[in-house]
Amino acid sequence: MSFLAHLECGRCGEICDAEQLLNLCPRCHSPLLARYDLAAAGRTLRRYAMAGRPANLWRYAEILPVRVPSFRLTLGEGWTPLLPSQRVGPALGLHHLLIKEEGLNPTGSFKARGMAVAVARACELGAPAFVLPSAGNAGGALAAYASRAGRPAHIILPADTPAPFFQECTALGAQVTAIPGHIGDAGRMAREEAAENNVFLLSTLQEPYRVEGKKTMALELVEQLGGVPDVIVYPAGGGTGIVGMWKGFAEMEALGWIGPERPRMVVVQAAGCAPLVRAFHQGSEQAQPWEDPATVALGLRVPSAIADFLILRAVRESQGTAVAVSEEAIRAAWERLGRQEGILACPEGGAALAGLESLVHQGWVQPDETVVLFNTGSGYKYMETLVV
Ligand SMILES: *Cc1c(COP(=O)(O)O)cnc(C)c1O
Repeated sequence: MSFLAHLECGRCGEICDAEQLLNLCPRCHSPLLARYDLAAAGRTLRRYAMAGRPANLWRYAEILPVRVPSFRLTLGEGWTPLLPSQRVGPALGLHHLLIKEEGLNPTGSFKARGMAVAVARACELGAPAFVLPSAGNAGGALAAYASRAGRPAHIILPADTPAPFFQECTALGAQVTAIPGHIGDAGRMAREEAAENNVFLLSTLQEPYRVEGKKTMALELVEQLGGVPDVIVYPAGGGTGIVGMWKGFAEMEALGWIGPERPRMVVVQAAGCAPLVRAFHQGSEQAQPWEDPATVALGLRVPSAIADFLILRAVRESQGTAVAVSEEAIRAAWERLGRQEGILACPEGGAALAGLESLVHQGWVQPDETVVLFNTGSGYKYMETLVV
């Protein structure tokens, strides 16, 4: 069962009823986070008694928001492999580089984790239909889970998004609209539609539960590694994964799964759209919007993140850092993952590797540290952009 207790605003601390279908904090319009009765959850959710649980993210049902088991949508999301690097790590002088291969999720990216949970919970609370602005992968994931749930979805994509992302959404039964501009422009249109019709908006961190799906990555890492890694390298756009994993580590400590140890969280962004990296190095608590965002790594083309303050807080509290990488470095690292590891990565995964390479060269990562590199999606949808 779920031990969901209430929702809490990440900025002002306002407490809200978790049985209401909500987007942002009604008082200050910041992201809402789910809170659980972790003492009670810890009585059945035990780190060394997980065998026999499903090999998908619902294995952590006690600390996920869906109450009625029949509402738990699954297409096999989560429980992805943690692969030891064969050549890329050794070439960098790293003895313990592991790659979390999120490309194996349904619809080929870790967006499946967030959408499985958010769509399931919204359906449980009565949402009749969904709308979403997307850079690509979130759209495909929503299309799949909305279809699974039997509810209509409308996905708004920037017109310059590669064709496979449109085809995927259409094939999965969603209505798709192409708009000029970037995801910020798509976001405005989606908000208007949600305000005018009875349609639930699923934008990144504008509802409380996508982040709950993403936090399961941290729980899996602890189960798969037998503990907490030293460093997590993550290509961040809207930052759901950073906010989610950081929350996941805190919840695991409350459950008695781990102690106070935490990984250093590294945010990697593309030099053509790096608002979080800029804010981190300026010492700001919030990020200014990035003008004219441009990068081949579409998931990183997010000019302003509503949870900027939560992402920056997590990176700082973890003693982590933030790095920007060039388009050339992204392409070169993407190719290395294919040729040297057998992983047909997404460009965001290439960006993460390029970021790690620059940190190794700066001496920020030590040879004996356990480093987890996230490949957040599959390369198949990007073939026309990336294949040389
Ligand atoms: C959305 C996306 C990202 C960024 O994820 P956030 O957790 O929202 O920062 C990275 N990689 C891929 C492939 C994505 O689709």
